[in-house]
Amino acid sequence: METDLLTEYQRRASRVIARNRSVLDILTKQQCANARVARSVVKAVTNCGCVEIYGCKNPPRTGTVQLEGELCEDCENTIKLEMGELVFYLTSLCNALGIKLEDVFRSDLNRCDMMGCYSLR
Ligand SMILES: [Zn+2]
Repeated sequence: METDLLTEYQRRASRVIARNRSVLDILTKQQCANARVARSVVKAVTNCGCVEIYGCKNPPRTGTVQLEGELCEDCENTIKLEMGELVFYLTSLCNALGIKLEDVFRSDLNRCDMMGCYSLR
């Protein structure tokens, strides 16, 4: 993991969000960003059609679950843009709470390593 990248990103996010440092604003904007990520994925299915989502009771334990096809360049770029907004507000929340973004990734990575397939996310 590139810790320098995460540290630099967190430092820059701190400078960019100078206008809105309210934790309440950050929390609600993060929720909006999360909804936009979901909407951009749904639009890849319903507007573009480059990917399809199907449902079943017991999805397979490996591979990409319930998704067929590949994102086209436009949809991928849109989803990445929306994910960037989500990461920005998560990082801003880290800044507001005095948490290092790198520590969040490291902690979760350790959790994944320890729990493996039993983490049941
Ligand atoms: Zn598409």
